[in-house]
Amino acid sequence: MAPVGTEPKKNLFINGSWIEAKQYVSLTSPYDGEVIAEIPSATEEEVNKAIETAYGARETMAKMPAHKRASILENLANLLETRKGEAARIIALEAAKPITTAKAEVDRTIQTYKFAAEEAKRIHGETVPLDAAPDGENRVAFTIREPIGVIGAITPFNFPMNLVAHKVGPAIASGNTIVLKPASQTPLSSFFLAELLQEAGMPIGAFNVVTGSGRSVGDQIVSDERVAMITFTGSPAVGIGIRNKAGLKRVTLELGSNAAAIIDEGVNLDKVISRCVGGAFAFQGQVCISLQRVYVHENEYERFVEKFVETTKQLNIGDPLDPKTDVSALISKGDVKRALDWIEEAKQDGAEIVVGGNAEGNILLPTVLLNVDPSQKVSCQEVFAPIVLINKVSSIDEAIDLVNDSRYGLQAGVYTGNVATAFDAVEKLHVGGVIINDIPTFRVDNMPYGGVKESGFGREGIKYAVEEMTEMKLAVFNRN
Ligand code: NAP
Repeated sequence: MAPVGTEPKKNLFINGSWIEAKQYVSLTSPYDGEVIAEIPSATEEEVNKAIETAYGARETMAKMPAHKRASILENLANLLETRKGEAARIIALEAAKPITTAKAEVDRTIQTYKFAAEEAKRIHGETVPLDAAPDGENRVAFTIREPIGVIGAITPFNFPMNLVAHKVGPAIASGNTIVLKPASQTPLSSFFLAELLQEAGMPIGAFNVVTGSGRSVGDQIVSDERVAMITFTGSPAVGIGIRNKAGLKRVTLELGSNAAAIIDEGVNLDKVISRCVGGAFAFQGQVCISLQRVYVHENEYERFVEKFVETTKQLNIGDPLDPKTDVSALISKGDVKRALDWIEEAKQDGAEIVVGGNAEGNILLPTVLLNVDPSQKVSCQEVFAPIVLINKVSSIDEAIDLVNDSRYGLQAGVYTGNVATAFDAVEKLHVGGVIINDIPTFRVDNMPYGGVKESGFGREGIKYAVEEMTEMKLAVFNRN
């Protein structure tokens, strides 16, 4: 059998079987445009079948004891461990993610499923002291957490394994069933997952993968009454549309941002620079907490820019499958053009390009801009490309105001040696996570993760996603 990811034609995964679809589209490499595979474009009937199947499997999952749910997830993590080279190659091929970064994603995905396996064993409610109210005397109450039912998971292209794991892991841990609709550019990772989950012992029908365009397949999942919850990661525009359409469904939205870091005076720049360059350019800046804006205290500004540019120039550009590559192609030609247009607009407005600013094929060269006005798209919108701006500030308060002057609020990083400044920043920054002495791009997979404002709502990080994916039920015993 050809390794998964190199087979020319993939099928839908519905009701525990690989189903031939009525229509197919070619999937091409973002790097060289070569056809990688033929991918099903699910019809309404096929999506309906996947939802019906997941709906029918609800009881099986809901009744499954915690230790069995945990062992499916443990098996999955172990299978992924044994096939991690193959998994990384799939990500590199379909997303043009540099292979070293793709390997790191697979390692994190394994951790995410392990966290989910552990979390499956500790989903519980609490006792409620009803006798705190006079009418509650002699009554005993406790809560339990029950699975919500069918979860529609709609995922983006940028972490095709780990962000899927952040939905599939907690859904299995909490006894739900799943219909997964991966991004059209990165379906192979999800098909690979279906194969592993089947081997890991997932009950038939409890996990289904349907591919096809978001506007049709995604929309159908969002509109179907049998789907109890939509867990979405993607762009704000699509997320807002989903929220408006979802009615009484539970919805969690993990959306975009224009994440920023603040550099205070007196920090050791040698420790900061390589983290910042990595945060700005890892996976071509196509990370929701990618470092897009840097506000540096005026006393450090010149030195910071000089060292940042020097380190950026050392990045290797090239083929995602080459282990030496740091930066490869953007996900589409359209994104290369958009990014170049935004750079040009900033330049016309007085910004200075100190490195990059042009493209080689589908690769936008790592670009550093100085003196960018906050009204420019490269500053106030989500750039999702290897572009970072570095602006000078005269105080940390000024920097905090600039960070907060945004439609988004996912995470912010603050480098400072001053404890009072750090506490101030935690208090004043309007974001989902403040990271002191690191970049906003920091994430490990058990921490609560999510945003405010147009960065979305709800939290992921297994334990927190399990809360979103379960309903609280109250039981009251009257002993009077
Ligand atoms: P996207 O264009 O919003 O697509 C995300 C998913 O939504 C894809 O599966 C897409 O399908 C589907 N979709 C599109 N239109 C839809 C509709 N009308 N109804 C239902 N589903 C629909 O995002 P992307 O370009 O793949 O990913 C980049 C974005 O994700 C960035 O904004 C990034 O910041 C965000 N992101 C956020 C986080 C976080 O945790 N906060 C993490 C990673 C990425 P198609 O692919 O078929 O269009």
